[in-house]
Amino acid sequence: MKYLNTLDFARGLDSKDPLKKFRKQFLFPKHNGKEALYFTGNSLGLQPASVQKYVNIELEDWAKYAVEGHFDARNPWYSYHEMFAEPMAKLIGAKPEEVVAMNQLTVNLHLMMVSFYRPDKKRYKILCESNAFPSDQYALQTHVQSHRLNPDKTLIEIAPRKGENLVRKEDILKAISDNGKELALVMIGGVNYLTGQVIDMPTITKAAHKVGAYAAFDLAHAAGNIELSLHDWDVDFAVWCTYKYFNSGPGGVAGAFIHQKHIKNQKLPRFAGWWAYDKKTRFQMNREFVPMKTAEGWQLSNAPVLSMAAYKASLDIFTEAGGMQPLCKKSKLLTGYLEFIIDELNKKMKGKKLKLEIITPADPAQRGCQLSIIAHGMGRDFYNTLTKNGVFCDWRNPNVVRLAPVPLYNSFEDVWQFGQTVEKVLKLK
Ligand SMILES: *Cc1c(COP(=O)(O)O)cnc(C)c1O
Repeated sequence: MKYLNTLDFARGLDSKDPLKKFRKQFLFPKHNGKEALYFTGNSLGLQPASVQKYVNIELEDWAKYAVEGHFDARNPWYSYHEMFAEPMAKLIGAKPEEVVAMNQLTVNLHLMMVSFYRPDKKRYKILCESNAFPSDQYALQTHVQSHRLNPDKTLIEIAPRKGENLVRKEDILKAISDNGKELALVMIGGVNYLTGQVIDMPTITKAAHKVGAYAAFDLAHAAGNIELSLHDWDVDFAVWCTYKYFNSGPGGVAGAFIHQKHIKNQKLPRFAGWWAYDKKTRFQMNREFVPMKTAEGWQLSNAPVLSMAAYKASLDIFTEAGGMQPLCKKSKLLTGYLEFIIDELNKKMKGKKLKLEIITPADPAQRGCQLSIIAHGMGRDFYNTLTKNGVFCDWRNPNVVRLAPVPLYNSFEDVWQFGQTVEKVLKLK
């Protein structure tokens, strides 16, 4: 597509956008009385306007039925989490029995590692990213220590080469084959939170399996952002949060995927709780633990219904929008437009020795909606100036500004306005 840097052009794309009606279903924060330019849906998705209604249903039923609400509520709380498996499975390319909504991302990572990281003398290493999200790093380090292993000798961290920003697939594949006999688990972000780079999950999964290791992904920045086929790719497990692209609200419930080939294996070690127990006999309160033969067999506790009601509101919007395919189609156009607008800004910055370097891959197949930028000559001032002028973006040390135009609620006009705001505040006009 040949893009133009004009309001008419941006509005033209918006008027042809088959998803345009969804923007009105989200609540935007205000700046000086006007809707702000919100590009941080990769950090906290906007609130769907319908959330109040969904949460109120549960508040009303709690008032009306009290404890009987577990069975008598309009959405009985006893089976509340079951409503989530099917829509979530569709959005991440899984079967409903492979998916469960529970806990938080980091909790789920630990729980999955209890089952899928069983180090022995020969096979104990974990391959991960050197620039992983801190919570994942802490989880891996401490999990390894709980097995009395030294993280420095156990975690193999893949880093971008010197002078580069992105990890190379060939480097990941080489590390997998070099450590083959000792490798227990590959655990990488499906989309890197800092750079927005999508890694080749099917190829990495195949390579891990070839050497006898499990393949797992943190999908915090992938779920709801890119198309996934976890079942077909044969991924062993995955975890993700839902308050980013899935708009479930702060601290919203997380997701876990466990491949079909593992869910019936009741011998897999796990940390158990009553909500994993076989539904038919759960309330007999037997001593012996008998887990369900679905991903639900990894649950610990009963569902946080009030917060999950907010998530349900958002999932219903995703379903109405037709799932990830139409969203990704728009996403490619929208992020392409942001890339174009940044190029336009760079043309105007030349004389001032300023440059916005996009470190996210230029290939649309290797990125989702996020673009990560290094603002040469400006650094953190660029971020500070943007936020002061009503642009929601974020800053990640040491030098990255992240912008994520989200196809469900961002418009082409938002992206054009972003360019205008930068021109104004940097006096490029
Ligand atoms: C957002 C994010 C988390 C957050 O973890 P919580 O347990 O939900 O607080 C973890 N890992 C990655 C890669 C993330 O992007």
